[in-house]
Amino acid sequence: MATRLEVVNLEREKRKDMAIGKGIEIFEPTFNNKKEKNYNGLLSPFFSTDWDDGDEAFAERYSCECGKTTGGIFEGETCPHCGKEVVFVDIDITKTGWMTIMDFHIMNPIAYLKLRSFIGKEPLAIITSTDKTIETKKVPTKYIAIGLIGLKENFIDILDYYYSKKKSKTLEYSEILDMFNKGTAFTNSIPVMSTILRPYSNINNRLSFSTIGKKYEPMRGSVESLNRIIEDNIGSLNDDKMMAINKKLKVIQKRYLALFDEVFSLINGKDGHIRDQLLGGRINFSSRNVIVSDEFLRVNEITLSYQAFLELYRYELIANLVKIHDISISEAINEISWGKINYSKKLHSLMKHLIDKYEYRVLINRNPR
Ligand SMILES: [Zn+2]
Repeated sequence: MATRLEVVNLEREKRKDMAIGKGIEIFEPTFNNKKEKNYNGLLSPFFSTDWDDGDEAFAERYSCECGKTTGGIFEGETCPHCGKEVVFVDIDITKTGWMTIMDFHIMNPIAYLKLRSFIGKEPLAIITSTDKTIETKKVPTKYIAIGLIGLKENFIDILDYYYSKKKSKTLEYSEILDMFNKGTAFTNSIPVMSTILRPYSNINNRLSFSTIGKKYEPMRGSVESLNRIIEDNIGSLNDDKMMAINKKLKVIQKRYLALFDEVFSLINGKDGHIRDQLLGGRINFSSRNVIVSDEFLRVNEITLSYQAFLELYRYELIANLVKIHDISISEAINEISWGKINYSKKLHSLMKHLIDKYEYRVLINRNPR
């Protein structure tokens, strides 16, 4: 089974975040001239405050409902604005910063990677390039070096062109087309995760960031300089300016992909968070067996070992022992424990009785590698 990620509409997510107060626009440098954190910078106190924030440090961890009264010293007091008590609240790691590109778009990383595997790494690099001197037969001349702007404008034509050459890739084709039609393939909004999820340290004014944290500042810089080009040339975007914009868009796209890759590797694969931490443990009422075929069984039948049944139906066995033999729960547990080490005829016949009576079902599946 491959991991599937839902492609979200980033613009819509941004609007939602802003509407419910969980979003902030990131467009300022991290620090101002006085070396204080900018509110609309990458380390905004909006995410959470820390020792760097002086008197305000950790204030948001004590808050009333409306958020106007915060700070540990007000704990237990009533907020004059909302009339609710100031209590300890956990930090909200779902708060998200948003960098916005004016007027133009890059691709959602997932859509980009899908498109790349569909049309090929080299053709996509040639299409999104800004080098008009490229000579190649891999891409039709009219699509050479049209940049991300051209890619978006000619998206369906380009997709159809490569589909006509790769008819077997129907599934990929329709997936990408679907993303484009839903408006999720391209975006002008780049999410910035909470500082809680990208810790940094500030020792004697020397900042050090996590691998992920490090990737945001250059991206913010690129978005800022791109927006400046766009703003300075509103209404007079000639070919040269469009070329400059395409170049910047490509840089941002590359940085976004690198960031996505970094985040994705944290959750994906054998050592990733999902498999390692969430699915790694044994699930209750499960047991591990070697599955072998048996030609004498029907398709919906399995044979189960005495030991596996004992584990899978531990609680049913205990309940029935208590009921049938009129013993206590702890006595029943003792019998099960004994039955694990020694074959118990009594338990075995109880198992057969339960199977006949309740038609127990078992889900067999293969563990991921
Ligand atoms: Zn309040």
